[in-house]
Amino acid sequence: MTDLASFDARSPGAVAELLRERGIRPDKALGQNFLVDRNVLLRIVEAAELQTGDEVLEIGAGLGALTETLLATGARVTAVEKDPALQPILHERFAQNPSFSLVCGDALGMDFSEFFAPPRSAKLVSNLPYSVGTRIAVDAALGLTPPDSMTLLLQKEVCRRFAAGPGDPDRGAVSVLLQRLYDVKIVRDVPPGCFLPRPEVVSSVVALRRHERHPLSPGESADFNAFVKTAFLHRRKQLKSALRGHGALSDDAIINAFEIAGVSPTARAETLSLDNWIRLSRAFRDGRK
Ligand code: SAM
Repeated sequence: MTDLASFDARSPGAVAELLRERGIRPDKALGQNFLVDRNVLLRIVEAAELQTGDEVLEIGAGLGALTETLLATGARVTAVEKDPALQPILHERFAQNPSFSLVCGDALGMDFSEFFAPPRSAKLVSNLPYSVGTRIAVDAALGLTPPDSMTLLLQKEVCRRFAAGPGDPDRGAVSVLLQRLYDVKIVRDVPPGCFLPRPEVVSSVVALRRHERHPLSPGESADFNAFVKTAFLHRRKQLKSALRGHGALSDDAIINAFEIAGVSPTARAETLSLDNWIRLSRAFRDGRK
């Protein structure tokens, strides 16, 4: 039987043996692709730029491969895990460590605003389950108190969407919403062979660092987010058509708002810069007054 005190979650052989002994079959629906590559784990932690005493939230801790790499930096780690078959393994491995706490349950139903609330410096660092990864990242970013940084391992195409700039065909509402709050950088790609079991697609590590270049009040933020989502709903249309009727503005008021913002009404959503989005959403908001 595996001794969890000396278990190496970064060894594919040790992971396969533990899963076999405990009768655990990795659950595809829960995105259970365990990371078993030491270099990638170290690269994630390095990209997260952790300092001793930092507060880290890890969503989907699995068997604890990333958890132990995070704890080794001196950070305090709160790990969330939904699968009741994995929770006792995490408990056995780390419960003795005063820097570790385990939250058992579904991260989707949890409110992390208190965890990320100032004055503490709190970061999200996770190898996220793919099916809910975008939702978790966007919910955290658009919450009342967004994390200082997010360092995430996700499907490559999702990371590209997070980082896509103006004119990039991958640019969508998620790119604009995240980039209003964060500088987004793809750190490296991670091939399927770094996981057990292997996922079907290539993954990437993406680093999001908070910036304050576009501060908005909570009311303005809510408007901005709704505006951007609406504009991208019909991404093939020209913006003036995609936004027709938004905020109950007349067609004339809409053309006026484009003029005030200095944005072409015939442009398509993916071509706009962040400054354009901020100006245009503000002009629409003012047009309603
Ligand atoms: N962190 C581990 C690693 O790097 O090997 C495991 C990562 S694995 C890609 C995703 C983990 O998230 C699994 O352990 C899965 O059980 C867990 N998970 C899936 N959905 C979840 C949810 N909604 N809330 C919390 N954990 C979840």
